[in-house]
Amino acid sequence: MKIKSIESFILSDKLKQSFYFSQWEYSERRICIVRVTSDSGHVGWGEGYGPAGIIRAGIEHLTPYILGMNPLETESIWSIMYRRTLDFARSGVLVSAMSAIDVALWDLKGKILEQPVHLLLGGKKRNAIVPYATGMYFTKEQNLSETLATEAKQYAEMGYRAMKMKVGLGIEEDIKHVKAIRKAIGPKIHLMIDANHAYNLREAIQLAQAVEPYNIYWFEEPISPEYYDQYAELRSKTSIPIAGGECEYLRFGFQTLLSSNSVDIVQPDICACGGLTEAKRIAVLASVYGVEIVPHTWGTGIAISAAAHFIANMETMPGRLNPPTCFIEYDRTENSLREELTSTDMVFCNGEIKVSDTPGLGFELNEDALLKYALDGSNGQLPQQI
Ligand code: MG
Repeated sequence: MKIKSIESFILSDKLKQSFYFSQWEYSERRICIVRVTSDSGHVGWGEGYGPAGIIRAGIEHLTPYILGMNPLETESIWSIMYRRTLDFARSGVLVSAMSAIDVALWDLKGKILEQPVHLLLGGKKRNAIVPYATGMYFTKEQNLSETLATEAKQYAEMGYRAMKMKVGLGIEEDIKHVKAIRKAIGPKIHLMIDANHAYNLREAIQLAQAVEPYNIYWFEEPISPEYYDQYAELRSKTSIPIAGGECEYLRFGFQTLLSSNSVDIVQPDICACGGLTEAKRIAVLASVYGVEIVPHTWGTGIAISAAAHFIANMETMPGRLNPPTCFIEYDRTENSLREELTSTDMVFCNGEIKVSDTPGLGFELNEDALLKYALDGSNGQLPQQI
């Protein structure tokens, strides 16, 4: 069996209402996905996290080296892609391009062998995972605290047991928003905060200590990911667990993060850290350091499904009779690509998502949505309808 073709597509959706976080404003969702086809006629889909045009260029760069290889040999193909990028990009968007191809190969492997990916990864260790709603981004509404609290309350009413809000607008404003949201959702729901590395160490300590009374489940990316030692110092100054890792790549990047005692929760993105193949290795590494994993997840149903299979297979440490909750990040901001591109039996119900047992990553790709959102010039042509 051979890889017959690798095609990338850039999809774009202009948002009805733009939103922003501590770094910049979003008015469009743009994403690069990849289709890998075997000579047996099977198709696998993958997705890269990061700037879509650069990821597509990376996929096109890697394609000639792996065309014709056996798609079942995911590790052998990974090694070729790694060796071909090592001299130029030991982290960053080229690794996201590798990740997209790797995810597509796992989907393809599952379709060829007629098995769900969680089984191929080593087994399904849980039937359901718990999504936490990612939302509460900033808008230009007059009374932002009230708007955010209303949004949080809606998630609580839908049955979400956990949710993550943005901080990073300024410490006083952040505290006001945390207070309003905690009041709106009550004491029981887990509430996480994410600064997207907006603060320096002094500010991060100040904010963490100020919001400790509001029972914060974790504080994500408080400081720039470059400052590993400052993460470790922040951990010693607050009772709130510190999370990070969405900007790290490969097991080597995670080794730096973990060995510096920077985080309580490590957050590799499957579609950026090196794909499912490398995420498995990162999970082994995290277990050596006794640090829990909650993957960062953003994008379409392809990325969400890849994370779901990874989490279904994940080993939790320590083992015990009542196992810990395994969370999956579940972005709730406006995204037609996420809603329309894939259909799956992994749907939110009673606060959980049941993991799919259908072959591959457990979704069907909607070709009409691909045609609707693909930009002209993706891989030089619009996708052909199959
Ligand atoms: Mg984040």
